[in-house]
Amino acid sequence: MSVSRKKGVVPLKESQTELKETERRYTRELLATVVKKVDEVQELVPTRLPNGGFIYKELDDMKLEENSQVLLNYMFEHGYLEKRPSETMLVCPVCHEGNIVPVLKCKSCGALAIRRERLIEHKAGGHIHPESSFKIQGEKIVCPSCSRALNTTEWRTLGAWFVCAECSERQAQMAAEFKCLKDNTLFTPVLGEFTMLYKYTVAEKSRSLLGFDETSIAEGIVKVLSKEGEVERNFAIKGKSGVEHVFDIAVKTSGKHFLIDVAFSNQPIDDAIVLASFAKTFEVKGEDYLLIIWPGLTKSAQNLVDFYKINIIQGTTLESLNKELEKYIEERK
Ligand SMILES: [Zn+2]
Ligand SMILES: [Zn+2]
Ligand SMILES: [Zn+2]
Repeated sequence: MSVSRKKGVVPLKESQTELKETERRYTRELLATVVKKVDEVQELVPTRLPNGGFIYKELDDMKLEENSQVLLNYMFEHGYLEKRPSETMLVCPVCHEGNIVPVLKCKSCGALAIRRERLIEHKAGGHIHPESSFKIQGEKIVCPSCSRALNTTEWRTLGAWFVCAECSERQAQMAAEFKCLKDNTLFTPVLGEFTMLYKYTVAEKSRSLLGFDETSIAEGIVKVLSKEGEVERNFAIKGKSGVEHVFDIAVKTSGKHFLIDVAFSNQPIDDAIVLASFAKTFEVKGEDYLLIIWPGLTKSAQNLVDFYKINIIQGTTLESLNKELEKYIEERK
């Protein structure tokens, strides 16, 4: 298992003990890399493999040389990631691995060779016969009563039963059973092991790892804007009333002034900030004013924004914020 272990495919029992024993600490850089990746894909979900195992593909593609499951669980336990159930995985009760196939088993003698017999009706003729008495003619089947060749729309299945190839017993229902391809253990869902696979999202605590604070967001904005023209931080301008107003960022491009404020909070931005922004725009009418919101607005603040027609950009990732900002300037300069 040592090779596949790196890919996160570990026998589950073993991995669970391993998780408890893990007291190792990961570097901040590694944690930040994982948080950024999870943020990028928004939700890190397990991918099932043909061998019955599973991986966290986006994470494994990064070739971190770490056991993904152990790392993700560590990050969940330490508050960097949120986790929610994603998929139930049925595994072998003996070897605890998921390399299993469904099998059809005779309830009477236990043989694994089962024939299915369907009851088929020739719809127009109302002729009903077991599947085996219809002859196959290319894509069609031939009705034993009237000898017509029927296409799939001309017949229907009324029911089915199952016949054991060993003891010939007819059975109305098949019970789902599974066979482990590693040790040939046969088991029902009742006897198999249920293992929950989880999906992960970025937790609030990770914002700092992503570089999400007001300063870094403002720095990112300045970087984008400096391609457009001369950028000033804490730009002061006298309003109509004679009062001086300070804006977080200002840029002059093609003779036009863009005044920008950044509203950053862990909570949605509320009315007070929007109202303060409106008061400023009122004072500097004629200038282009933009309020950058991170990460969002309360419902009532959104209503105020709409009512006062304040230009806003809302960011949830630095990438999307930068893109929208470029678009905004491009459209208005
Ligand atoms: Zn097994
Ligand atoms: Zn049988
Ligand atoms: Zn017929």
